Amino acid sequence: MFQKIKNDFGWILLVALGVGAVFIWSQVLAQETGSSDKIRIDFFDVGQGSAIFLAAPNGNQVLIDGGPSDVVLAKLGQALPLTDKKIELVILTHPDADHLSGLVEVLRRYEVGQIMETGIADNTAEYQAWNELIKQKNIPVVFASAGQTIKMADNLAIKILYPLGKINGRDFSKNTNATSIVGKIIYGGNSILFTGDAEEQTEQPLLMLGADLRADILAVGHHGSKNSTSAEFLSAVAPQIAVIQVGAKNRYGHPASETLARLKNVASILRNDQVGDINFQCDLRACIQR
Ligand SMILES: [Zn+2]
Repeated sequence: MFQKIKNDFGWILLVALGVGAVFIWSQVLAQETGSSDKIRIDFFDVGQGSAIFLAAPNGNQVLIDGGPSDVVLAKLGQALPLTDKKIELVILTHPDADHLSGLVEVLRRYEVGQIMETGIADNTAEYQAWNELIKQKNIPVVFASAGQTIKMADNLAIKILYPLGKINGRDFSKNTNATSIVGKIIYGGNSILFTGDAEEQTEQPLLMLGADLRADILAVGHHGSKNSTSAEFLSAVAPQIAVIQVGAKNRYGHPASETLARLKNVASILRNDQVGDINFQCDLRACIQR
């Protein structure tokens, strides 16, 4: 299904200062045979946590968060060809353990081409391990900021909507959720919004600024917490499908019944705790569940 021509990956990164745009592309684009124009997006069932995997037909792969454990390694093992030990881009929405812990394992086992994160100050042992691995393996890091566009392939880009400016080095230890990277995967006519553990206090400024939130698929914020996915936010996103990354019988009571009620009005709800991995395949026009 996917052309895996990855022996000669040359990544070029241009950070256009001023406009704050980030473009990433691969020489493999030129070698692309064009036999498939389908991307895959997997919402891995990692228990109580989040992990979204994106694979482009040119071989570029993105992992957004890694869930709470090394479960993500088994998921990647299934999603990637046996010989593929490189993930081109890893995005850490925020450094809470249910998003970060799996990514630390990924950094240990895989070659990672590029990291995007907020770079906020966080003194957990886990985040220190993450930072040490980045240093040890000399992985380039881009700090997320609204307005950046990461180009992954022809017609495939990730647009960053939040945080509104760079926040690296700042201390948000009281509420790391509010620092979550919010971004939109755009492939042809399809759009998928990911929100990390963002809650209303992140949704509000995005709404006030008139950010382009509309998306076909919404990765629901903070595992369906009652403080996320306000009615106003939901009407701006207007998703057809709402994916809730949540573990069965979690101690937080996620997803909240109020949030489920709001979602039910507008979208079909898919939950990892009910159906396991949630996988989509998209061509330029539509995404279908695999
Ligand atoms: Zn979380």
